Amino acid sequence: MENPKTHTILAVDDSPENLDLIKNILEPYYQVKVAVNSELALQIAANQQPDLILLDIVMDGTDGYQTCLQLKALDKTRNIPIIFLTAKHSEEDEVHGFRIGGNDYITKPFSPSVVLARVRTQIQLKAKSDLLEKLASLDGLTEIPNRRAFDAALERQWNQSKRTGMPLSLMIADIDSFKQYNDYYGHPMGDECLKNVAGALQSMTHRPEDLVARLGGEEFAILLPNTDSIGAMLRAEQYREAVEALKIRHVKNNPTAFVTISAGIASLRAHAHDQSTVLLKAADDALYQAKKQGRNRVCANNLEDVP
Ligand code: GH3
Ligand code: MG
Ligand code: MG
Repeated sequence: MENPKTHTILAVDDSPENLDLIKNILEPYYQVKVAVNSELALQIAANQQPDLILLDIVMDGTDGYQTCLQLKALDKTRNIPIIFLTAKHSEEDEVHGFRIGGNDYITKPFSPSVVLARVRTQIQLKAKSDLLEKLASLDGLTEIPNRRAFDAALERQWNQSKRTGMPLSLMIADIDSFKQYNDYYGHPMGDECLKNVAGALQSMTHRPEDLVARLGGEEFAILLPNTDSIGAMLRAEQYREAVEALKIRHVKNNPTAFVTISAGIASLRAHAHDQSTVLLKAADDALYQAKKQGRNRVCANNLEDVP
């Protein structure tokens, strides 16, 4: 069996004997967590992100179908596959299990080798869908998050700012005179330059909630949650310096003769009636100012105090 113990399975059953049995079958190959009721199962699933859940249906005080629905209703647990492992034999029960989002259905008493085989199938499918999900959110050239990933993160952080009242800052950076870079050094060197700039921006990002993405062309976005305009200005200046410090020759870029970026930043606290496009537009306007004022600089648009 491939990749022993790199995957985690959560087994949910109200009978400790059943849990022991399942543990014995799976433990040689997988990390196994157990939960004796629905409440614990939901907690462990959300916090530990198992790769698969084996779910009993008839439990003392709770109903596994209900647990399944709750798991499917939460962003954090929605994509974890579920195999029902149950004494409920009827066709209707099985169909219902699939209908509410179950991925497989095994009836008790079960054969250990069949459980293992079906578990392995689900684990392989989950690994494939995780990989696809990851690839779909990465930019092919620079291998940093793409526009799709940025849009999703912006919506997430926007809603968080609304809930918490914390400020949210956005920086949009654009490489200066990049058309001339391509014209002078050639497109393949242009691609190389984009990769290096993306790498420099990425390596400056230390907080897990900060996100650097390629918006397209030679334009990057950096999302800075829980960061006010003063903090954002400091960070943006560091990002600008990091690109300059790469010292990539660009003789057509005056006056430094190195590759530089201009950046616009916008900061605000999201209010219920605002749309996230307000932040994008404000950062874009600030970027336009930075270009107009001579490039290789950061301009800010502080909307924090506007009601
Ligand atoms: P400014 O300082 O005002 O930003 O000028 P600029 O030349 O950087 O801006 P402009 O929008 O005129 O040109 C952007 C250039 O970026 C043109 C395009 O060929 C280049 N470009 C966009 N995407 C890629 C890419 O994936 N690879 C390469 N090599 N070049 C790209
Ligand atoms: Mg541009
Ligand atoms: Mg440019």
